[in-house]
Amino acid sequence: MDIQVGDIIKMKKNHPCGSFEWEVLRIGADFRLKCMGCGHQIMIPRRQAEKNIKKVEKSDKINDITT
Ligand SMILES: [Zn+2]
Repeated sequence: MDIQVGDIIKMKKNHPCGSFEWEVLRIGADFRLKCMGCGHQIMIPRRQAEKNIKKVEKSDKINDITT
């Protein structure tokens, strides 16, 4: 699954605040996610995150990486 920092992911289960959307803050063995509804941050193992993702919305940020 192609997930990058800055992407918004939609989970199958919603957060207690009602939001299904999380912003990806960091990627590694664990994902650091921020709830788009209440701003709560969590760390979850990559495998668990990928299992619960319903949809990935790519960020609109322009990757200005030129060599
Ligand atoms: Zn929340």
